[in-house]
Amino acid sequence: MSERTLPFDSALVAKLRERFPTPFYIYDEAAIRKCARDLIAAFSWCPDFKEYFAVKATPTPAILKLLAEEGFGADCSSLAELIISDHCGVTGEDIMFTSNNTMSKDYAKAKELGAVINLDDLSHVDYLAETVGMPELICFRYNPGPLRTGNAIIGEPQEAKYGFTREQLFEGYAKAQKLGATRFGLHTMVASNELNPKFFVETAEMLFELVLALHEKLGIRIEFVNLGGGMGIPYRPGEEALPIGEVASGIKESYERMIAGSAADPLKIYLENGRIITGPYGYLVTEVVHKKDIYKQYVGVDACMANLMRPGMYGAYHHISILGKEDAEATQVVDVVGSLCENNDKFAINRKLPEIEIGDLAVIHDAGAHGHSMGFQYNGKLRSAELLLKEDGTVEEIRRAETLEDYFATIEVTP
Ligand SMILES: *Cc1c(COP(=O)(O)O)cnc(C)c1O
Repeated sequence: MSERTLPFDSALVAKLRERFPTPFYIYDEAAIRKCARDLIAAFSWCPDFKEYFAVKATPTPAILKLLAEEGFGADCSSLAELIISDHCGVTGEDIMFTSNNTMSKDYAKAKELGAVINLDDLSHVDYLAETVGMPELICFRYNPGPLRTGNAIIGEPQEAKYGFTREQLFEGYAKAQKLGATRFGLHTMVASNELNPKFFVETAEMLFELVLALHEKLGIRIEFVNLGGGMGIPYRPGEEALPIGEVASGIKESYERMIAGSAADPLKIYLENGRIITGPYGYLVTEVVHKKDIYKQYVGVDACMANLMRPGMYGAYHHISILGKEDAEATQVVDVVGSLCENNDKFAINRKLPEIEIGDLAVIHDAGAHGHSMGFQYNGKLRSAELLLKEDGTVEEIRRAETLEDYFATIEVTP
């Protein structure tokens, strides 16, 4: 049943439960570091490669710090994420600020930190200049619209709210230059959870062509292209992991063909992945509290959609193991549900699982990115703790669980 291995066993989890009530998240430090190193190694051919970890995926300081140790920057999308990155010692051009419908207070913080500011719209060239001033280095997000097809989560570029059209880019760089910008970058993000390596090579080629056209028409030199995040992970059993080596060598081949020796050479390549870096290496551990037998069979756990909303929000598949029964035969078909008053509060629908007893622990896989961070408080639910399984085998609490005091802190209620 389970082709997935866990970096912890029942004995460790039993010990953890003496200190931490379920549900909790646990992340595997060694695996995250290995993934970071493998990504950097795959792009070592590149004149100046940098990965800016998408903070929104796992905005927890201990995670950002360990990624900074591996040489990653931070891709921030809001004021709070900028503050977290700065707190973790990731600052200046190690921060990429990619936001949309952005408020001036967010731009002000990004400028104060010296972050690379990536504008989402032509009108923001003036908005930025008028509210906080035009920085020396400016980047624009490109939306290819009908020139490119998208994928399930992010949708068709033409329907997406993000970015500049191609024509607007030419106008935007010329305008930014007049307003004092002297250094330029180009960004795009057209996929989410994409598992086809060709997609990323095509994205690189799309930007390489634009860099050359911008140079030819405007005489400006683009210093870097940021291909965005969106590299996928195999959530479903049987899916193949994205071959990062193939992505990197495909992009290298395109670079050599299109950029090497041209006016655009050397061109830095940036990525801003979140999901591939932490996604497979974070687990949500939750206890089975109830079983229910009506028109369907239900297994009720003590986590709910407020702890992990991807299944409810996107119908996303998350693999589930029953701790200690990893090799047991799947003999029943159940829905694994939380306790929200919403019928989409289900971690799994019609899932084949082994026989489950009340008190069993379910481990929800691939929850390390866009998991805890998407949490919310509907139905008065509290966000869980996050734990880090360190390389030396010890476990550290890197975010405490919310308490009722936290929940009531913004209203006049005392628990
Ligand atoms: C969400 C997001 C990312 C990260 O996406 P992943 O799927 O986690 O790799 C990167 N860049 C931008 C602009 C994003 O919105």
